[in-house]
Amino acid sequence: MTRTLHWFRDDLRAADNPSLLAARKHAEAPGDILGVYILDEHTPGIRPLGGAAKWWLHQALCSLRENLAACGIPLLIRQGGPHALLPALAADTGADRVHWSRRYGGAERELDAGVKRELRDRGLTAESFSATLLHEPWTIQTTTGGPYKVFTPFWKALSQRDIPPPQDAPQPLGELNQSTSALTESGVSLGEIESLSLQPTAPNWAHTWPTIWDPTEAGGHHRLETFIEEQAASYHDQAQYPGAGATSRLSAYLRFGQLSPQQVWHSAGAVPHAESKTRFRTELGWRDFSWHLLYHFPELPRSNMRAEFDNYPWKVPEEDPQTFRAWTAGQTGFPLADAGLRELWATGHMHNRVRMVTASLLVKNLGIHWRAGEAWFWDTLVDADAASNPVNWQWVAGSGADAAPYFRIFNPERQQKRFDPDFRYIRTWVPEHDSAEYPEPLVDLQLSRQNALADYAALRGDG
Ligand code: FAD
Repeated sequence: MTRTLHWFRDDLRAADNPSLLAARKHAEAPGDILGVYILDEHTPGIRPLGGAAKWWLHQALCSLRENLAACGIPLLIRQGGPHALLPALAADTGADRVHWSRRYGGAERELDAGVKRELRDRGLTAESFSATLLHEPWTIQTTTGGPYKVFTPFWKALSQRDIPPPQDAPQPLGELNQSTSALTESGVSLGEIESLSLQPTAPNWAHTWPTIWDPTEAGGHHRLETFIEEQAASYHDQAQYPGAGATSRLSAYLRFGQLSPQQVWHSAGAVPHAESKTRFRTELGWRDFSWHLLYHFPELPRSNMRAEFDNYPWKVPEEDPQTFRAWTAGQTGFPLADAGLRELWATGHMHNRVRMVTASLLVKNLGIHWRAGEAWFWDTLVDADAASNPVNWQWVAGSGADAAPYFRIFNPERQQKRFDPDFRYIRTWVPEHDSAEYPEPLVDLQLSRQNALADYAALRGDG
């Protein structure tokens, strides 16, 4: 008998999961494939999830357990260091193969390589698969064989390649009951998702989120279908307007791998409007590009990609706690930014245009380090992503590889006039924006802009 243990990480889905399909080839009966999710909060360099992402993960695991059960695959839940846990679990369950989908962060790759060695040393088969990106980071190279640092040529190279069509979930192996009781009888517990304590308790700041999100695999497919059928055709001219509700809101499903980028890419093939189809697929390209950068520059969540920015006089929040607190609370006195920051707190999501506006306000007008804003987003976004978050923050800050030029400082008032001219978005989140209760702006936009530009000029030595 062959028993395969599939180690789930950022691929929390049954369908279009190459590793599960490979395991299915060796399996005959329920329980021949076991899934395991290990909450790992202590491996140095692997970022523990923020609060909002943990909330999403809890629901995602419940959904995964159900979907896998329908395929005859039990899902085990563990907490701790995978390096010790996985080999022990393979031994306890009599698994002779261990599979997983590859990760691309520096510390994650190191851990996975160590686990692979350990398993192989014990005579087990350990195999990894590609399942979370359109193309793995090392497969797209410049003509000289190096990484891309600029999006446009990266995208050109990526979009010329074939994207394999998505595949179904593995054929069901049968009813689970017997195999799970055999496991428990042999002393292997399934483990409770509740034991991971992923959900907020006192206060339960997410109590309204189940009415906003359906963080299940089926919920992801439903969102994808609805977007493609009803919204995607107007993506080209509506996606930039935060009040239009014209973007897909698929980011958290992609973050946790409840949808594969291949599934999303191929569904987008049905979008009748060519420009909308290309623009939407290009955004998936930005997601791959972020991971391409993180793979090649693993320090980017912590360090400026352009070293000249190491001398930029950004403040840390402790030097100006009131300003930073006002920013996080959506009390900056700039309605578009405040709407975004309040949307983020209330829903775990913020529209991309407003992410750029709020980030620029923090980093350029309020003079606070991008790392502080990035950490806030990391804790509050349901789609908080180890690559996309720091890459986009560095893009706005100007310190990234393919960053917005430093003098591009988003003016939140002008952005409001352009992208929320009728206050549709602002009215939802900042209903008091035109009343006396609303705070005065935290900074003078012109003055703070001039200061930021002078600091940048000084940094370059041309001030
Ligand atoms: P859509 O417009 O429908 O786009 C489709 C998909 O493409 C998204 O679901 C996402 O997976 C991907 N995508 C779109 N824009 C980007 C982008 N600029 N970079 C990378 N991928 C993109 N996205 C995250 O997934 N996680 C993050 O932690 C994150 N942090 C961000 C921080 C800042 C400061 C900024 C400016 C952007 C950040 N983004 C992040 C990118 C982007 O804002 C979100 O992906 C997008 O708003 C999600 O909404 P959507 O699914 O409706 O996007």
